Amino acid sequence: MTEQSQPGKPAPSEPATPTEPREMTEARHTMVEKQLLPRGIADPRVIQAMKTTPRHLFLPAEAWPIAYGDHPLAIAAGQTISQPFIVAMMSELLSPLPEDAKVLEIGTGCGYQTAVLVALGYQVHSIERIAELSRGAQKTLGELDSLPAELLVSDGMLGNPSGAPYDAIISTACARKVPPAWIDQVREGGLIITPVKRFGGRQYLMRYTKQGRRLGKDDLGLVRFVPLLRGVE
Ligand code: SAH
Repeated sequence: MTEQSQPGKPAPSEPATPTEPREMTEARHTMVEKQLLPRGIADPRVIQAMKTTPRHLFLPAEAWPIAYGDHPLAIAAGQTISQPFIVAMMSELLSPLPEDAKVLEIGTGCGYQTAVLVALGYQVHSIERIAELSRGAQKTLGELDSLPAELLVSDGMLGNPSGAPYDAIISTACARKVPPAWIDQVREGGLIITPVKRFGGRQYLMRYTKQGRRLGKDDLGLVRFVPLLRGVE
């Protein structure tokens, strides 16, 4: 019997990389135990991906002491790295899909959500409109051996027609309405997971399911994301 399978004994905290400081390993496991499990994250694959993806490495060393806190953080170019719970929740919303599903991510940012999606086994294509961020994500993901199928610098509002159809499109930037290109590029029965801004300025996380020419809707509650903007920088 391995140590991990002994009943009642928690799985040991494994470092994500051979040189990882012990405090980072412990902070990541505490994040899973205190922020994700009590709020209902239950898919063992998502829990494992969150336990093994070194969030701090997507941030400058000065931010490591707060890398696993229960909040988003500022990254370069005025953008953010999402709160760990939001990354886990958005990842878990993909769980109905097959394990090797083709997923288009809009808003690579620093690449943390990308790494979690790659750890889950999806074929990930990720778009970022700010070239500087995409370059940083490429470097970190490459060092972690977590590069997705494709990292693109382009306007994600237009999707990526050459790779369509996708099983899902997941956006970490907030749209005013679902861009028509996303609906065109998702397969029948596929998912669009995105924050959407409603009248009054509030943002709601939505999961849409493509059903012929209409979209089935699940409203997952209030969230805060940076806006989905046109063009590239
Ligand atoms: N996925 C990141 C969150 C990044 S914040 C994480 O793991 O934490 C959202 C990102 O969406 C920003 O980097 C922003 O530049 C990007 N973005 C906004 N509008 C976009 C668009 N039209 N196409 C591609 N990326 C966009």
